[in-house]
Amino acid sequence: MFKPELWEGKKAGVLGFGKSGQAAAELLFAHGIQVLISEEASLPKGTLSTVTKGISVETGGHSRALFDCDFWVKSPGVLPHAAVLQEAKKRKIPVYSELEVAIAFMPKKARIFAVTGTNGKTTTTALLGSILKDYAREQGCKRNVFVCGNIGNPVSLCATQVRPGDDVVIEVSSYQLEDSTYFRPHVACLLNITPDHLEHHGGMRNYIKAKGKIFKNQRANDILVINGTDVSCAELAEKAKSRVLAFSTHPKHLLKTAVFFDGDELVFSEGQLLRAPHLQGIHNVENAMAASLMAFSCGVPTATIQKAFDSFQAMEHRIEQFAYHRGVTYVNDSKATNLDSTITALKSFEKCGNIWLILGGRDKGASYEVLLPYLKDYCKKVLTIGEAMEKIERELPGYPVVRCYTLDKAVETAMNGAARGDVVLLSPACASFDQFKSFEHRGKIFKRLVDARIFKERTEKK
Ligand code: ADP
Repeated sequence: MFKPELWEGKKAGVLGFGKSGQAAAELLFAHGIQVLISEEASLPKGTLSTVTKGISVETGGHSRALFDCDFWVKSPGVLPHAAVLQEAKKRKIPVYSELEVAIAFMPKKARIFAVTGTNGKTTTTALLGSILKDYAREQGCKRNVFVCGNIGNPVSLCATQVRPGDDVVIEVSSYQLEDSTYFRPHVACLLNITPDHLEHHGGMRNYIKAKGKIFKNQRANDILVINGTDVSCAELAEKAKSRVLAFSTHPKHLLKTAVFFDGDELVFSEGQLLRAPHLQGIHNVENAMAASLMAFSCGVPTATIQKAFDSFQAMEHRIEQFAYHRGVTYVNDSKATNLDSTITALKSFEKCGNIWLILGGRDKGASYEVLLPYLKDYCKKVLTIGEAMEKIERELPGYPVVRCYTLDKAVETAMNGAARGDVVLLSPACASFDQFKSFEHRGKIFKRLVDARIFKERTEKK
């Protein structure tokens, strides 16, 4: 277990100069621990100017100084089998995750909620955050609710603001879980497990194992909310020591459900009913079930949950309908960075073969073949972009794919070809880093390209 008081005056090595590495460094430094951030890549000089004076930073490789540190904090992006970590193991240097370090600085009496899964984490985390914030407001704002983690702000940034009795809702990735040994959320949620990040984890078995760490340290009075239809989730849940509460949108489920969907409403086993938020797709009913079950199991009344659901808005880059022009609907699902989320997006539309699907980017190792039946049912054309283009073509034999190289070309092709009633959907099933800074950057460029063409057409018509 990471105990801050044991390390005062000692030296910490923070591996990786990312957002969470920097936040962990600042947190440790503010608590009297000497810090060296060590980054393998070379970074432009200006990048380092944001770091507090007194924190050392070394880039372009790891020096001896890193191995002189008393313990390390690993950034999630560093590969688990990286040589530098093997060396730390040999030298018996303790390595902690940013997540467990940050939580160690919080008071014991803060309640930790943690959401993981292949897809739906951000939506569920945001939903749960707004339910708990509404509830805290109804109760006279006596406690604060923090929403952090993978959703955009590192846990280390809010760690010292948390007071006893506060709620902390954390979106947790498989990378962070893989690095954690002691993480123990009071209320955990495992949404689903489908192939993703296989290259990082070294295969599906390790990926599932990492996801299972969300509840590994839980005790009998903790709660685990889990997808009762997902085989991997159900198998993992057998090992849980905590109270397991399952949700399901399917009549066929593997675990006894605490909430199910009757096609119209969420039905709790104790009889309470809830209308789902106004979000497209059955997957969002699952996310809503998970968030409501987490809140409900901690005593939040269903009336409060319903109010939060009713005011919840669709999130940017997640099946986001942002334009409608000449009878064509434009949808930005740039957050779909794996195959399962693209399939989910397709399934959230009617099966009428009217989708122009933009696929591609940086490949993540799984086979695109699984898309074939869905493409046949839902799509008119597939337009490919980025590094994954050739692999996509190879793995979709017989399916007509239009090679577009860039998002700009794909937008042009789709807009020239789409007819009234069609949908142009960016749901790339790939990471964005080959051509963009992030999925947010890719989504914003997509919207800008579409909007610019619509604007041009409209002004030319006048
Ligand atoms: P994450 O944070 O896990 O990436 P998001 O809430 O940001 O999840 O959603 C990302 C994409 O994953 C969405 O655009 C949608 O296509 C898909 N998705 C969301 N929730 C689910 C779910 N429960 N099951 C399957 N796919 C989902």
